[in-house]
Amino acid sequence: MGELVVHQTRPAEPLAAGWLRRIAGPAISACLFTGPVPPVELRPTTLAGFACKNEQDRRVFLNSRCRFWNPGSVVSLMLHEMAHRLVMEHEKSTGRSFEAHGPEFFLTVMVLYRRVDTALDGTYALVDRLALYDFQDRPPGLQHLERPAWAAEVLGWALQHFESIASSSASAESIPKLAADLWSAHAARKNAQRAEETARQGEVIRLKEQVLQVAGDARIEVGLYRIFGWTGFFASMVFALFAFVV
Ligand SMILES: [Zn+2]
Repeated sequence: MGELVVHQTRPAEPLAAGWLRRIAGPAISACLFTGPVPPVELRPTTLAGFACKNEQDRRVFLNSRCRFWNPGSVVSLMLHEMAHRLVMEHEKSTGRSFEAHGPEFFLTVMVLYRRVDTALDGTYALVDRLALYDFQDRPPGLQHLERPAWAAEVLGWALQHFESIASSSASAESIPKLAADLWSAHAARKNAQRAEETARQGEVIRLKEQVLQVAGDARIEVGLYRIFGWTGFFASMVFALFAFVV
């Protein structure tokens, strides 16, 4: 016998739905969704909001007790959860797996925020609300770096790209793929630079050892000259040449 599954959800009251639509409508338009916009469920929960994988109708959840007197908080939270939804859908279509708050998510939410800021003339200053929380997960491809180093990489990379994607006509749904491709290329470039640097350091060490060896040989030859005169010096040179040829 299968497990009993119980749901208790219903459409929000017209007052609550109308209130959220009024606040969120212009922001949603600015994001350039081309498909259905993920539904929102208002729910009393201990979290501010969340989005689950495999949610059948793609809905995202917002805490119905969340700071509702502040439209900026509601819009930023809603778009944060919708960015999770978009990244999850890209994951699903590719079979790839991303960290919840990795670089793909961070650039996606940053682009959505920027679009809303531009369309609404900075009313909510959403980009200013981004925080370390939004890129808290270690990014793929840079596992060798400590947290301050990879966090700086992710932030710098996102700042480099978000304006151009935000001002493009790319649909909201396409942003996670753009972000994932850009991050893969960035991490690959960083790793190639690191490999080059490691090889260069190895070469420097090898050259240093060679110089020390030559300096040591020169000291021996000068010593032989002092002890045995030119005969000793030339004898050591002949031996050195012989060793080199052999
Ligand atoms: Zn999140």
